[in-house]
Amino acid sequence: MCEPIVRRIPVQHILSRSKLPVGEFSANPYVGCTHGCKYCYASFMKRFTGHTEPWGNFLDVKIWPELRNPEKYAGREIFIGSVTDPYLPQEALYGRTRTLLEQLRGSGAKLSIATKSDLILRDLELIKSFPDARVAWSVNTLDESFREEMDRAVSIERRLAAMEAFHRAGVRTTCFISPVFPGITDAKAIIRRVRGQCNLIWLENLNLRGSYRAVILDFIRAKYPRLLPLYRSIYQNRERGYWEMLDTELRAYAAEIGLDYLTNDDTMNRPFDAPPVIVNYFYHEQIRKSAGGEGDAPCRSCRR
Ligand code: SF4
Repeated sequence: MCEPIVRRIPVQHILSRSKLPVGEFSANPYVGCTHGCKYCYASFMKRFTGHTEPWGNFLDVKIWPELRNPEKYAGREIFIGSVTDPYLPQEALYGRTRTLLEQLRGSGAKLSIATKSDLILRDLELIKSFPDARVAWSVNTLDESFREEMDRAVSIERRLAAMEAFHRAGVRTTCFISPVFPGITDAKAIIRRVRGQCNLIWLENLNLRGSYRAVILDFIRAKYPRLLPLYRSIYQNRERGYWEMLDTELRAYAAEIGLDYLTNDDTMNRPFDAPPVIVNYFYHEQIRKSAGGEGDAPCRSCRR
């Protein structure tokens, strides 16, 4: 992989109003995402930014003016990282996410952050100072070789260690099992692994659209040919049988291990020490579209 092309860009605002279900405002300190996930929903951003480089090979570092009246965000939800990872490796050098957190420090804003990194450990104390902060890590496999095929972020083990550290420090954590790859993602194994270190376990199905559809189908053809008929049934014939079967299976598994299992609900108002809730978000895109909501999911990878 070649080094990403990085440039600084001045912007007027870092916070924007959001229609996402996870925050009234969103902030993306970078344009682009050097994790370069093969299944990235956020790669549609290229259309709006004029970038011709492949997704993952460019990064714009946003430079914005000091926030005026940050206290106006008191009690408001701010989602950091809807179309980028705020803790990309370049954050260690540019510190734009850290800058944003410092500008919001003491404002009373409710933070929600999604990442595939453990660089966020650097900011644990600062994040902890916000009321009701929550941090989500994307973990859709425990198989590091599959992970390496899919993204250039840190290992699953490092993500899980960071999640555990935040949870131990009293910050609400989410394990975002997304995207669920049919026949590959072992959701039960992930749930077993994280149930003691998170408050919410969120499942989202793999959607295939845009330019990455062919990339993923080619990958399945090359690496998992036995799964090709399944992927064709889901992504060409639009059959839902697999997701319905998985839904039934996970619901039964949740009951077996004593966890609640909900559908399309991301409220996190239970006591911190309560067992995590499993939320199935398998069909949320269709539901939101039919309800007239915005069609673009955030990079949920990261929810992002
Ligand atoms: S899926 Fe998320 S982490 Fe991966 S490239 Fe896209 S924005 Fe970055």
